[in-house]
Amino acid sequence: MNCCSCHNHIHAKALQDSESGSLNPFLRESMHAFSLRKSVGVQTLQALLEKTDPGKEEIVWQGGDCEVCSPRNGKAFGLGWDNPPPLHPQCDCFMYVRKRRR
Ligand SMILES: [Zn+2]
Ligand SMILES: [Zn+2]
Repeated sequence: MNCCSCHNHIHAKALQDSESGSLNPFLRESMHAFSLRKSVGVQTLQALLEKTDPGKEEIVWQGGDCEVCSPRNGKAFGLGWDNPPPLHPQCDCFMYVRKRRR
């Protein structure tokens, strides 16, 4: 009944410690910074889509030196990708508008 609660305290402390070190050492960009950049990317794509004439222009993916991004490099929106950059923390890909070649 009157058992010692030290165990719980130690457990809570351990949890706290592991959370303060929650930044994945493989990701130098925090998920927070990434999600901010991601929302900018989504807005940028929307703005580009609004001002782009799909009959004459296309939005092209530029960049990508990892296996996730490199297949999208040089591909037009809708043909190879529809999720705007950045795709992941540290991603430095961007989009640009190019005249369609006929
Ligand atoms: Zn990448
Ligand atoms: Zn990328």
